[in-house]
Amino acid sequence: MVDQMSFSDLEAFAKECIAADRYPNDRHTFTMFRCDNGGVVPFELTVEHHTGSKKENFRGEILGVCSECGSKQRVFSFTGAHRKPLRVERPVCQCGHNEFLVGECERFEGDEGLTGFFDEGVVVGKCARCGQNRALVYTD
Ligand SMILES: [Zn+2]
Ligand SMILES: [Zn+2]
Repeated sequence: MVDQMSFSDLEAFAKECIAADRYPNDRHTFTMFRCDNGGVVPFELTVEHHTGSKKENFRGEILGVCSECGSKQRVFSFTGAHRKPLRVERPVCQCGHNEFLVGECERFEGDEGLTGFFDEGVVVGKCARCGQNRALVYTD
């Protein structure tokens, strides 16, 4: 299990990715992905791109194998029933490691009331070995 404090720089990185500073009136949320069996753990990731997926506007799913219990689960999904799998990516850090702590930052327009509209988001990963942060996919 990883210390909660160690995610603050990943959160800051995610906010930088979607330029949160430039949207002071919007609401930003940051969530770490947890294993279904509990706990924020590193995952070995497979990024599955579906039809219509673009670099700045991902469609598809991110699957992860939990480094602690070995279960395979859907970490992130942003797709539709009519979309077909196109290709897969298996992210590897520059250091050669392939397990990442994964978090998502989302921006919602406006900071008042309950009904902010989703604007854009980013899924980020932190290498479980060297700590390097990277953007995995952007959603818009
Ligand atoms: Zn697990
Ligand atoms: Zn690394």
